[in-house]
Amino acid sequence: MYDFDFYVIGAGSGGVRAARRIAATGKKVAIAENKAYGGTCVNLGCVPKKLFAYAAAYNTQQKAQAYGWHSQKPSFSWQTLITNKNKEIHRLNAIYEKLLEQHNVTRHDGTARLLDDHHITINNKTYSAQHIIIASGSSCFRPPISEAELAITSDDIFHLPQLPTSIAIIGGGYIAVEFASILHGLGVAVTLLNRSDQLLTLFDHELGKRLAHAFDQQGIRVLFNTEANSIQQHGTSYTLTLKDGTTLSTHKVMFATGRLPNTQGLGLEDVGVATNPKGAILVDDNFRTNKESIYAIGDCIDHVNLTPVAIAQGNYLAQLFTGGKPRPLNKDAIATAVFTSPPLASIGKTQEQLDAQAIEYKTATTEFTPMKYSLNDSTIKARYPCFMKVLYHAKDETVLGLHMLGEDAPEMMQGLAVAFTMGMCYSDMLNTVGIHPTTAEEWTTL
Ligand code: NDP
Repeated sequence: MYDFDFYVIGAGSGGVRAARRIAATGKKVAIAENKAYGGTCVNLGCVPKKLFAYAAAYNTQQKAQAYGWHSQKPSFSWQTLITNKNKEIHRLNAIYEKLLEQHNVTRHDGTARLLDDHHITINNKTYSAQHIIIASGSSCFRPPISEAELAITSDDIFHLPQLPTSIAIIGGGYIAVEFASILHGLGVAVTLLNRSDQLLTLFDHELGKRLAHAFDQQGIRVLFNTEANSIQQHGTSYTLTLKDGTTLSTHKVMFATGRLPNTQGLGLEDVGVATNPKGAILVDDNFRTNKESIYAIGDCIDHVNLTPVAIAQGNYLAQLFTGGKPRPLNKDAIATAVFTSPPLASIGKTQEQLDAQAIEYKTATTEFTPMKYSLNDSTIKARYPCFMKVLYHAKDETVLGLHMLGEDAPEMMQGLAVAFTMGMCYSDMLNTVGIHPTTAEEWTTL
């Protein structure tokens, strides 16, 4: 009756996972993609960002001197990094395409648009499907300031022909602080313009405060309560005029001011799929839109916009459609990390959320210099602090939140997330025998 059982729009993390898991059960599935396979994560997000973060971390000359290493000032080739990064991304694109092929998912390269509850059009052809899954992702948002188009976004940074000598980054969220750290590590003079007095507002505020201090010690300039009014170009550089009337000259300006759901041009209004004022598709607990045959997952629904969450939502749909009983995602147990230097990672509630919800809690914290920096002088030590925080229920000691700024925080948090998801208590942490000497053992003594 239909050309396909399922038609998936968008071959990013969520779309590909749903498509191949559903196809693996013998259903006829097609997927449409108008850019590169793998979506933002593979092409313009998590993967190239982490490679850049590794590149920045190789700049270890100053730290290594206390251990006896002396070398000439190393040189860095942006072109080598970009070429090798592109090679790796192409390898991953091919893996994604092959995975779909191996699961007999039909690939349509182009922009799909809904025609009605069961039909889509792509490349001047029309296809019918019993179910449609929208996984169209999100795009960088540019604030409406004068000449905003002169600034780059995180989409552009991965393909810049040359590394700028200086950059002004507008924003104070994930992308702003990660790129401030990466570009500083690669030798760029970085100024971060944050509109409030707090970096990473959605994280426990102690992390953002300590990161700001570490940035300051490293030489990253952070301007708080600062907003830009306009951008002007002068040859190859730019002047930012700030709201207080002062100006700032820089070689590049970058927006890292959030992302918006990719829902324009999908035909949602014509078909009557409901969205919120931000353009995010509204879904129920089973990711079904207000149309019975149309589902949506990932950044286009603007729930928790992280790759592993989109993958979990794709898995959920696959289980739902193939007779399984999917387990709802526990939104309070999603670990997340920010790949700055030092990095930070969290799971559960922040102290600000607990205060707002009037939950009675206790706090255990520790702050120390990681052993790795014990031979370094105080300047280096101040640049790479380590801070851990446990928030636990005042009555039964259930751990409510874990927050860390410090080297290897993301790797540690992934392991802790297992115990957190299982409902560990603070006393369970203290009853655990540590591995010595590690930074991680501090979680068992604090
Ligand atoms: P975020 O939502 O993390 O941060 C947006 C930042 O921009 C905030 O500091 C916000 O300020 C500020 N902002 C918003 N609007 C304006 C404006 N008009 N003028 C000035 N500042 C503004 O978004 P990002 O762009 O950093 O990242 C997008 C998403 O991508 C993240 O939310 C995350 O879901 C995902 N991501 C995940 C990563 C990871 O897992 N490591 C890495 C990178 C991205 P305020 O806080 O005051 O609202």
